[in-house]
Amino acid sequence: MSNSPLAKLSVPAHIGNYTRGRSSKITKITLHHMAGVLSAKRCGELFQAGGRNGSAHYGIGNDGTIAQYVPETDTAWADGNWNSNCTSVSIETSNSATGGDWKVSDAALRSLIKLCADIAKRNGLGKLVAGKNLTWHSMYSATACPGPYLKSKMDYIAAEANKINYPEKEEIEVKVNGINTLRLTDYLVIYNIGNYTGTNQWGVEVAFDSNCVAISDPVCWVGNMKIPSGGFVLSGHNKAGNWIAENIKKGTKLNLSATVK
Ligand SMILES: [Zn+2]
Repeated sequence: MSNSPLAKLSVPAHIGNYTRGRSSKITKITLHHMAGVLSAKRCGELFQAGGRNGSAHYGIGNDGTIAQYVPETDTAWADGNWNSNCTSVSIETSNSATGGDWKVSDAALRSLIKLCADIAKRNGLGKLVAGKNLTWHSMYSATACPGPYLKSKMDYIAAEANKINYPEKEEIEVKVNGINTLRLTDYLVIYNIGNYTGTNQWGVEVAFDSNCVAISDPVCWVGNMKIPSGGFVLSGHNKAGNWIAENIKKGTKLNLSATVK
């Protein structure tokens, strides 16, 4: 366990406002709003006062600055629910206006997304899902926190954080020598008609689905591969076969915008 490098400010909470250590593994993030327009420092100062009986691990100011109040290895008192506190990393986010839907600034929202991604990655939470491992205060106790605006953004926050941790695979641009043509020496050919490629064993072949994503790893020196329904087989002889073996594996996405050499 560690703390987020995104926190540029440390405002340690009073030891009377949280519990040292943790009794459970971190399994989720819990979001809160500050119910006010505050800087990250100002929110931290509230938790520095003894007798507050409350704290959070992180706070995000209206300008997007992230502060640390309680180390992730300790148990912040944030959710009004001991079991939830034991398994959560909690974040307070400043509002940009008071009342109404308790809006949050775009800068604070952006910082929140980055922080959620970082917490999820370091703690092995996997992909974030709103209501599962990306949670909010009112799931655990009777409160209006985190307000209508942040609550309406939960799916968006999860999706944006997942984009940071699981970026779309880069596409490999490829030019082939032909489509459904004979695979001559060093040729790279696409086959998308019929049931099989009809090629001999002197090449490397890999099947793609209709989204140009490789269905499996390349198959070397077998030939006559089955053409998947709606997809195609990329087939390479000799040098082109070696190129396939070196550059393509299951999940690789091809960009066929400039298809034929
Ligand atoms: Zn709250």
